[in-house]
Amino acid sequence: MPTSRSSRTDVIVVGAGVAGLACAADLTAVGRSVLVLEAADRVGGRMRTDRVDGFLVDHGFQVFNTSYPQVRRRLRLADLQLCPFTPGALIRTADGGLRRFTDPTRRPRDAADLLPGRLMSARDLLAVAALSAGDAVLPAGLLRNAPERTTVTALAQAGVSAALVETFFRPFLSGVFLEDELETSSRFFHLVWRSMLRGSLCLPRSGIGAVPAQLASRLPEECLRLNTPVAALTDDGVLLDDGGELAADAVVVATGAEVAAHLLPGLDTPPVRTVTTHYHVAPAPPLREPTLLIDGRRRFLNSCVVSEVAAGYAPDGRALIATSVLGGERPGREAEVRADLADAYGTDTSAWEHLADRTVPGALPAMVPPWPLSRPSRVGPGRYVCGDHRATGSVQGAMASGARSAREVVADARTAGAERAAGGARTAGAGREGR
Ligand SMILES: Cc1cc2nc3c(=O)[nH]c(=O)nc-3n(C[C@H](O)[C@H](O)[C@H](O)COP(=O)(O)OP(=O)(O)OC[C@H]3O[C@@H](n4cnc5c(N)ncnc54)[C@H](O)[C@@H]3O)c2cc1C
Repeated sequence: MPTSRSSRTDVIVVGAGVAGLACAADLTAVGRSVLVLEAADRVGGRMRTDRVDGFLVDHGFQVFNTSYPQVRRRLRLADLQLCPFTPGALIRTADGGLRRFTDPTRRPRDAADLLPGRLMSARDLLAVAALSAGDAVLPAGLLRNAPERTTVTALAQAGVSAALVETFFRPFLSGVFLEDELETSSRFFHLVWRSMLRGSLCLPRSGIGAVPAQLASRLPEECLRLNTPVAALTDDGVLLDDGGELAADAVVVATGAEVAAHLLPGLDTPPVRTVTTHYHVAPAPPLREPTLLIDGRRRFLNSCVVSEVAAGYAPDGRALIATSVLGGERPGREAEVRADLADAYGTDTSAWEHLADRTVPGALPAMVPPWPLSRPSRVGPGRYVCGDHRATGSVQGAMASGARSAREVVADARTAGAERAAGGARTAGAGREGR
């Protein structure tokens, strides 16, 4: 049955991922009435956490970076009870060795791992130090406007050897970009590298879903409707899957790229990357530290004993291991991954329990150059779009894009209001002249 049109809203936001939630927060903060319509039974989109047999299973393994400006602006970090990763990563090298890439400014005791001959040459050490110093201290604006190339070209131009790219950068960054050609925009690479140098990688104690949950908790209760998929946009608002209609002055589509292209025909959307995370339970942790393990042979993107990062991910002292691979699921893949993990962790994994898999088809936009770091939100009168595909594939990008939508909605409403007022004044003036 059609929904009543009597309750007209200033703005409807379609999708309660972090982009839509950030947009709604900024709009309600300036007094707009907002309705967020979410298809799923909870907020968060790609940042959801399920409970499976008492374990916390994120909707694909991901990390939370404390240095993102949007994160610092919007979230009470203390309430997330953040549990940090060890800075850097462990690498199972192609020759079977285990090396550590570390940040010596944070973990001086591991600095010896960077000594020439272990992971990298003296020349590489200088190149990585110079690259990191620039990314850490230069104003972000300079990085955003620097000449753009692919990441692999940028690394070569920074003097990083092909050997170090293969040993460390390609395996590590393929887990960040969800692609292993390193064809992602160098601007995004430098901004991500900067954020890692300046912040901490963490997991919230109760799962990654705690981040959108906190954003949602600050919205007025009546603002959010779950289990409400939007089928189409209408001239006056939206049409719901159940046939109901809701009216609004403006509609912001804050879904992922593919749904946005469907709801806004003609919208230019990028291809997307797919990732699968396999979750295993082991009787004891195969690695007793909160550190990312990456695979120099590139059989998987990365693996992590998440219960070593945040103990609450596992209910009973057993260990929860998350391992991500590029692409979707296919028969036999989990068994292959488990065998690769035996080699990578140097332990017998045959008794590990296969807990769950999470495949995320539109996990990230493919950010190949030229990649504008922020795109306009307005796509037509009263129609706007936001989401990570309009900025960068990250929590920062998604929230910044939501903020941009809110600014454009408010600016357009002001302009329309001013025009109406001017039109009214002209009509009144004409009326007086006629008297
Ligand atoms: C496995 C994985 C690892 C990641 N790792 C990191 C990381 O380490 N660091 C980082 O910064 N970022 C990471 N990201 C990226 C980050 O999670 C995303 O960029 C961000 O969550 C995108 O938010 P969004 O609001 O743009 O989109 P989404 O989270 O996709 O939200 C869109 C929302 O729209 C809803 N929706 C869709 N269709 C409809 C409809 N018809 N009607 C109503 N609602 C609808 C969806 O249900 C969803 O809730 C990762 C992502 C994945 C999947």
